[in-house]
Amino acid sequence: MLDIRWIRENATQVQEAADAKRLNLSVEELLTWDERRRQLLQESEELRRRRNEGAKEVAIAVQAGELSKMESMKVSLKELNGQLEEVDKELQTAELEFNRLMLLVPNVPSADTPAGASDADNVEIRREGDLPVWNFAPKDHVELGALHGMIDIPRGVKVAGSRSYYLKGPGLLLHRAVQQLALDLLLDAGFTPLEVPLLMKEEQMINTGYFPSGRDQAYSVDNEGAWLAGTAEVPLVSYYGDEILDVKEPIRLAAVSTCFRNEVGSAGRDVRGLYRVHQFSKVEMVVICEPNDAVSDSLHREITGHAERLLSLLELPYRVMAVCAGDMSPKTFKQYDIETWMPSRGDFGETHSSSNLHSFQARRSNIRCRDTDGRLVFCHTLNNTAVASPRILIPLLENHQQEDGSIYIPEALRKYLGGRELLVPGL
Ligand code: AMP
Repeated sequence: MLDIRWIRENATQVQEAADAKRLNLSVEELLTWDERRRQLLQESEELRRRRNEGAKEVAIAVQAGELSKMESMKVSLKELNGQLEEVDKELQTAELEFNRLMLLVPNVPSADTPAGASDADNVEIRREGDLPVWNFAPKDHVELGALHGMIDIPRGVKVAGSRSYYLKGPGLLLHRAVQQLALDLLLDAGFTPLEVPLLMKEEQMINTGYFPSGRDQAYSVDNEGAWLAGTAEVPLVSYYGDEILDVKEPIRLAAVSTCFRNEVGSAGRDVRGLYRVHQFSKVEMVVICEPNDAVSDSLHREITGHAERLLSLLELPYRVMAVCAGDMSPKTFKQYDIETWMPSRGDFGETHSSSNLHSFQARRSNIRCRDTDGRLVFCHTLNNTAVASPRILIPLLENHQQEDGSIYIPEALRKYLGGRELLVPGL
């Protein structure tokens, strides 16, 4: 959420951000409702003031025994009450429209965000690691998963429908190993780990900026009036909702959680294998800091660096992309995506998404701190993926496969896998 005073003064910039993010929002309409509700509020206050004065005069007339004056004043008071009722009704409508439109106002992207309409316009800013070269025909992760008995998609679909899977034996162990490696890396970097609730109240989905625009992408739990979180970012940020924090030292939080996505709008896309599924696990980082652009920008680079470190420990080639305005969510100020080489796609595929939300999410969630003058100000919030699995298993299995189908285990993962250097099919 942006400050309405700021929106009034920067209407063109806000409209440009909404257009760049391809949102259906008219800032002019918002400002018309804003003007109307302020005007109605004044009218309502004036009518209320006149009514209170009238009531006092009636009391005086009653005391003075001026019955006819009292009667005529009662008539005008009744009229005033009628007018007040009308104005309050209109005010309520204006407030509702204003609040509805305010929730649709996006964050304005940072000045260095690339312009562009879709992920095709994202800009590569660095690339690390060498792409594999084979002198045999490589298998994709679905074939490798079946060979090792570690990924069972047919039974996943039988039991839970499309985009579902089972991980089994070494598949589950690898899935847990990458998560533990990511969590250990974050613990070393000073993050506090949390187990988080995933059944979210609607309010938290709104406050963290996921609703209203992403409403159709979440699963609702109707009999609870709740929603399944698509990411631990929602409970992690909401943890400090309506609080005043000491952020002299940034607050670094981490969670390992299941994520639920209905992937509406992705029909027909990425249907093979584990790339786009309805339920996956993510080790997530959230950082809350003072509202200082240099501080949050530096933390943004720091959290992006944690994901890059994880990928280098997994010995996987990747590239970092500066995400363009058209590929950003409404709430985002600045975003880097990390894409890891996926041989079966013949391309890099997104494995991490690192965002600076500036004060947008904290304003909505009412997370504040005190500035150096002791005034209350909204914090900045940031988040990034440490690792999302099973998607990460795609590059892990495919890049590290050997000619006989066995899988090389990067050194950093071995301690979580009983010291194994190689996963051999059937063993
Ligand atoms: P996001 O929270 O949308 O920024 O996504 C963070 C990461 O979660 C992505 O970079 C992917 O690695 C992973 N991810 C997101 N959506 C899915 C999905 N439907 N299936 C599997 N992994 C996903």
